[in-house]
Amino acid sequence: MSDSQSQGFLDTVNQNFDAAASFLDYPPGLLEQIKVCNSVYKFRFPVRREGGGYEVIEAWRAEHSHHKLPVKGGIRYSPDVNEDEVLALAALMTFKCAIVDVPFGGAKGGIKIDPRKISVEQLERITRRYTAELTKKNFIGPGIDVPAPDYGTGPREMSWIADTYAQFHPGEIDAIGCVTGKPLSQGGIRGRKEATGRGVFFGVREALADTELLKQVGLSAGLAGKRVVVQGLGNVGSHAARFIQEGGAVIVGLSEWEGAIANPKGLDVAAVMKHRAATGKITGFPGAIDIPSEDALFLDCDVLVPAALENVIRGANAARVKAKIVAEAANGPIAADGDAVLRQKGICVIPDMYLNAGGVTVSYFEWLKNLSHVRFGRMEKRFEEMSAARMVKSIESATGKPLSDNERKLLIHGAEEEDLVNSGLEETMSVAWHQIRDAQRKHPKTDLRTAAFISAIDKIAVSYLELGIFP
Ligand code: NAD
Repeated sequence: MSDSQSQGFLDTVNQNFDAAASFLDYPPGLLEQIKVCNSVYKFRFPVRREGGGYEVIEAWRAEHSHHKLPVKGGIRYSPDVNEDEVLALAALMTFKCAIVDVPFGGAKGGIKIDPRKISVEQLERITRRYTAELTKKNFIGPGIDVPAPDYGTGPREMSWIADTYAQFHPGEIDAIGCVTGKPLSQGGIRGRKEATGRGVFFGVREALADTELLKQVGLSAGLAGKRVVVQGLGNVGSHAARFIQEGGAVIVGLSEWEGAIANPKGLDVAAVMKHRAATGKITGFPGAIDIPSEDALFLDCDVLVPAALENVIRGANAARVKAKIVAEAANGPIAADGDAVLRQKGICVIPDMYLNAGGVTVSYFEWLKNLSHVRFGRMEKRFEEMSAARMVKSIESATGKPLSDNERKLLIHGAEEEDLVNSGLEETMSVAWHQIRDAQRKHPKTDLRTAAFISAIDKIAVSYLELGIFP
């Protein structure tokens, strides 16, 4: 992304904030404090090139709001990352955490590298050095600032970060909580990898159950049979596409940077992923037609899920979008001028800071697990199962009718960590959806994005007011 495009991204976030703020009545200065970024650490460090010589790497960590600690947000590896993009993403994190009632402030990090062009060894060196720099400046720690994966990073990088942090803090019992999105063996939590995509699925399902909203866009209720297009098959997009398909929708288009594929009869997401793993691309998938990457955004469908990067729908191309609902799985996929065009066309946008909050929600669960040093479900699972078994036995002897093995298994099953994580996520996405809809009903002239900002700003304002910082 060019500097001017990401400048647009920060402007977009600020414009969206201002639009929501115009509906609110708070003391002077409070809204400004909620809007601005509290601190940004920009730094450079040298790494030895594998072919010889040195390269200077540019990196950032922005802590947008310290109204709650720790602050939290992903780390992005991309050759296009820049300060304004990191600032925009950090701000979105603050509002996202507030929307889903995760008690963190927002943050974001970035390293200007192309991970696809760097060896694993070099990536590890850069990641460890980045962590050391954050440690020196107190920009990381389980009670200070807790990074997570984002575009271009995953569990492997989080594992390197946790290990480097622990080396600088020997004996710190909560050190493992300095980062989330770790592999399971390194203090990660079951369900984190899929969490953002699963949250996208829950959010889309909520929208498709909202009869009042569906009447406005002219869609029937339910996910079954809805035609869906997904752009970007990385962590978020691939899982979102799979869950949405399992929920009964028909995936009619999938897009990656190398090209896109379409089939009105439906694409099997798992088979497409397998095809990509084998051939290196999604194009050439049996039964589908190949189209240019961007054209997937303009396919005839009910729900479009941009899950790649920001600013893909802009003033210049938004008029071509045919979907009735655009579900922002990526951060900032719709630029402000694109948003205006979609609004004019009556297209409903499910905003990013709600829809992709599944990742931070389950990161919060991972952090809680790390601080409590015990796996969710470990203490109660066996007890729950024994109580349920006793109840089943009493019902069987009272009715004289034994249950089938399957029925008994279902009733007796005690909650595993993943069951608890997924149900906590489902509850979070459902409650947040209804809070946003309530804010929208209170301010009828708002769209879902403005309502989501209002819901977030209200919650943050209350925490400043109750601290007594603003009169
Ligand atoms: P990722 O790197 O795993 O996947 C992104 C995918 O998009 C890649 O497969 C990439 O090839 C593809 N892509 C890039 N440009 C494209 C283009 N022009 N057309 C089609 N595909 C393209 O990243 P991710 O973690 O899935 O993140 C995707 C988005 O979701 C980002 O905006 C990120 O900030 C946001 N997000 C991620 C998480 C998370 O938990 N990973 C949480 C919240 C938000």
